[in-house]
Formats: sequence, structure tokens, C-alpha cells
Amino acid sequence: MQIETQEVRCPTCGAVNGVPVPDAGVELKIKGYAAPFEDPTKIECSGGHSFWVYYC
Ligand SMILES: [Zn+2]
Repeated sequence: MQIETQEVRCPTCGAVNGVPVPDAGVELKIKGYAAPFEDPTKIECSGGHSFWVYYC
């Protein structure tokens, strides 16, 4: 199975990072924190920041 990726921007510095997505049509929501009771994917920005991606 091929892994799809989408480009998202770091909320801290705006750097573009590739994020793996379960399928190409999924919508991504970016947050600078992890909300409780949710299961986001943590992304390490190339600039050294961390942010979280939710699949909608
Ligand atoms: Zn960053």
C-alpha cells in the first residue's frame, strides 16, 4: 500500500512539512497542542518545533 502525504505548514514557523495521511482525500487539521481524549499524529517540524495533526 502506498503511503500518501500532504504538505502542512508548521504553526510556529510556517515551514512546510510532509505528513503521512491514511488516504488522499482526508482533511487535516493542525493544532499546536494535543487535546485530551483525541489521538492526533505528532509531527516534528524541520525547524525543531512540534505540532499535531488531526485527521477529519
Ligand atoms: Zn516550525
